[in-house]
Amino acid sequence: NQTPLPENEVPVPKPPPFDYSPPPYTGPPADEILAKRKEYLSPSLFHFFNKPLNVVDGKMQYLFDENGRRYLDGFGGIATVCCGHCHPDVVDAIVKQSNRIQHSTVLYLNHAIADFAEALASKMPGNLKVVFFTNSGTEANELALMIARLYTGCHDIISLRNGYHGNAGATMGATAQSSWKFNVIQSGVHHALNPDPYRGVFGSDGEKYAKDVQDVIDFGTTGHVAGFISESIQGVGGIIELAPGYLPAAYGSVKKAGGLCIADEVQAGFGRMGSHFWGFETQGVVPDIVTMAKGIGNGIPLGAVVTTPEIAEVLTRRSYFNTFGGNPLCTAAGLAVLKVMEKENLQENALVVGSYLKKRLTELKDKYEIIGDVRGRGLMLGVELVTDRRQKTPAKSESIHVMEQMKELGVLIGKGGFYGNVFRITPPLCITKEDADFLVDAMDYTMSKM
Ligand code: PLP
Repeated sequence: NQTPLPENEVPVPKPPPFDYSPPPYTGPPADEILAKRKEYLSPSLFHFFNKPLNVVDGKMQYLFDENGRRYLDGFGGIATVCCGHCHPDVVDAIVKQSNRIQHSTVLYLNHAIADFAEALASKMPGNLKVVFFTNSGTEANELALMIARLYTGCHDIISLRNGYHGNAGATMGATAQSSWKFNVIQSGVHHALNPDPYRGVFGSDGEKYAKDVQDVIDFGTTGHVAGFISESIQGVGGIIELAPGYLPAAYGSVKKAGGLCIADEVQAGFGRMGSHFWGFETQGVVPDIVTMAKGIGNGIPLGAVVTTPEIAEVLTRRSYFNTFGGNPLCTAAGLAVLKVMEKENLQENALVVGSYLKKRLTELKDKYEIIGDVRGRGLMLGVELVTDRRQKTPAKSESIHVMEQMKELGVLIGKGGFYGNVFRITPPLCITKEDADFLVDAMDYTMSKM
């Protein structure tokens, strides 16, 4: 018998039921942790939220603060948690492995490492079957770039403007956004035009953008290159899906110049696309090297480089190893994640719920002028806010406001893009349609009050 809402009034969003209550929290209050963070932890990214959440528990697609308040994790860590926070099968695999052996090096045999390598190889196309484990996406990309340089004997690398590949020497060079560059160590790196359908000069014509790769080779190098690295959907850069037809044409130019094609699948890979297991498959290409991290361990520090036996051979020229890369605790988690993905059809869920979520977000675009673009695939979606649709003027302060308000309503989303005005929606792949409704309703409610 509730009083009906006035016309155009958006109701307060209600979280869907979720059958879990975290145990009582006995740790220090959030303010005390914030004070320690300010004094003892790196000051970078302090501005992301005005007041960061004190995350105490995680269960599947939800996070809980010290008061037991529940938040939908619409950012999935940072696109890291794929099968859900503390999924019981992953917890079980880590605990079991932890009771057997926690550390083993590349010098010995251990089945937890070999089994996950075999399982990963079975998910790869072509002859991509040799796996090198790392602890992060940055390390995976550093190794991939080194392999390309060793294999080809060339130094020049091409990457895309607005791409993000990591924060160490070669990867920070390949990354092409000023806000993520400190000391620009980019010897031999050339940045090609970004095939960005929303802001790029050639709209959705992938082949026109790819011509710039040929130009970079012709005018910026000896005509021979070590390789080309790109994401298939740029994540940090603001969920930018490369214009159709781009990768096949760009790969063609790179291969003609003797280079290796590296697919950075750190965010887009591992089922998140829904329609395909890997992002590069959406453009119908087969890379020479694939790098991955984030989702493959469901947030546990684990990365990998996968390539062909012929290319992998270069690492026998000298000694190469990574002390913690492929730690059995992490690979046991990785194998459990892959099994859960299959058992629970999470890729299919990413397709079904992702398409529904995108449809609902697109409907919001019809309602609010501030939404300039809705894009992405599966459960890797972006919503770009602009103050003027024609000029595409980035709505920066408005996007911070919406994010903060949605947090108050119990929904966490991420933000990125060169101007910091793109919402990044990359939840765990286990979210339901009701969760998707909750997320969109929270955005709708917030925007209705602006
Ligand atoms: N590549 C891509 C596409 C990424 O999104 C990231 C991190 O966001 C990286 C590489 C670097 O990974 P990590 O932060 O694990 O070093």
